[in-house]
Amino acid sequence: MATVQKPDYAGRRTGFIFTDEHDALRDSMTAWVIKELAPHAEEWEETRFPDWVFRRAGELGFLGLCLPEEYGGQGGDYYYSLVRAEALTHAGSGGLSLGVSVHTDMVMPPLHEFGTEDQRQRYLVPSIAGELISCLGISEPGAGSDVAAIRTRAVRSGGDWVINGSKMFITNGARADYILLVVKTRPDERHKGMSLFLVDMKSPGVSVSRTLKKMGMHASDTAEITFEDVRVPDENLLGEEGRGFYHISWELQGERLVGAVMAVAGAERVLEKTIEYAYGRHAFGRPVAEFQSIRHKLAQMATQIEAAKQLTYATAWRFQNGEYAVREATMAKLFATQAACEIADQCIQIHGGYGYMQEYGIERAYRDMRLYRIGGGTDEIMLDVIGRSMAPRR
Ligand SMILES: Cc1cc2nc3c(=O)[nH]c(=O)nc-3n(C[C@H](O)[C@H](O)[C@H](O)COP(=O)(O)OP(=O)(O)OC[C@H]3O[C@@H](n4cnc5c(N)ncnc54)[C@H](O)[C@@H]3O)c2cc1C
Repeated sequence: MATVQKPDYAGRRTGFIFTDEHDALRDSMTAWVIKELAPHAEEWEETRFPDWVFRRAGELGFLGLCLPEEYGGQGGDYYYSLVRAEALTHAGSGGLSLGVSVHTDMVMPPLHEFGTEDQRQRYLVPSIAGELISCLGISEPGAGSDVAAIRTRAVRSGGDWVINGSKMFITNGARADYILLVVKTRPDERHKGMSLFLVDMKSPGVSVSRTLKKMGMHASDTAEITFEDVRVPDENLLGEEGRGFYHISWELQGERLVGAVMAVAGAERVLEKTIEYAYGRHAFGRPVAEFQSIRHKLAQMATQIEAAKQLTYATAWRFQNGEYAVREATMAKLFATQAACEIADQCIQIHGGYGYMQEYGIERAYRDMRLYRIGGGTDEIMLDVIGRSMAPRR
């Protein structure tokens, strides 16, 4: 029988944002990840990670850490989502972290925030239990960064909506039970013409056109999905019709912050391995870590990680305290993901030829990390959001 930990708000604060309770949850989830998931990391690169991971994580109470108990969640604060993302990095599989976080941090928060009671019962409760798997459909073959240019349409027909179009690069798309779908309900408008729908993937007219081969994140599946005359009832409209862009912009802040956490925690894991390697590997009669240039690289990376972590934690604190910290979440995602990519590169360098070999897991981290500078908004879009926020108000 699975033991589920409940939050205790009176717990001692052990750091800037975490309490004893967060640390205890991190320890128990990390132990589970190391015992039940990490041993399969290699195998899942070839096969993708299996659906039972969701069910098992749901059974242990890890999927609904920050969601209310009435829906089967643990009722914890926002910091628990950071704890979960950090713990998952111990599997050494970016694809696993990505697939789980799409479900927990990209689909479930807007479903809870904007969903009706009926939608929460039908989708959120089984998602928290790990009985339903979700995916998020924003990007299309012809529109990624320019979200308002999407062409997938939903048209009213009787009491229903009929959806036509396609979505691209959808994580969990090949296995999901439902998709949180972003469509145009008013095709002549840009931002004000968008709406969100919850669409069952088994609905007639929904098909996975192909699963895509990619550079990294091999343990996750990435699909192109086609919608042909898909009939969806009105009660599956999520949030307000015409407000979809604003709802999804709200979602993107959480997505960017969890992207920052996954990147920084992933970089930390890679650095830990590299320190161990650098002290064990000898050249010219001493551990390579004792060459000043290597020691300085290690110091530089540790500093980057600490800076990225503190920016991310400080932004999480703003979230937890009700602030809509778009600029800071954007900065955290930009800074943490760029740092993580640089760190993975340096760690390969310190491993020498072994870093290039698959068995050390460093080259995998390097390939996996690269996604974070594209998914959830590219570096260029992050810079644009930050830059625009700096213009003087006139
Ligand atoms: C492995 C993987 C998983 C993904 N998972 C999902 C998912 O689950 N759901 C989902 O909806 N999407 C997903 N995506 C899509 C991802 O969010 C998009 O790839 C990303 O937003 C970029 O869009 P794009 O690929 O269309 O690039 P484009 O928007 O075509 O951009 C191409 C280039 O132009 C630059 N550019 C574009 N606009 C500007 C501008 N205004 N100023 C400066 N430069 C600009 C970009 O930065 C980029 O360098 C995933 C992608 C990958 C690779």
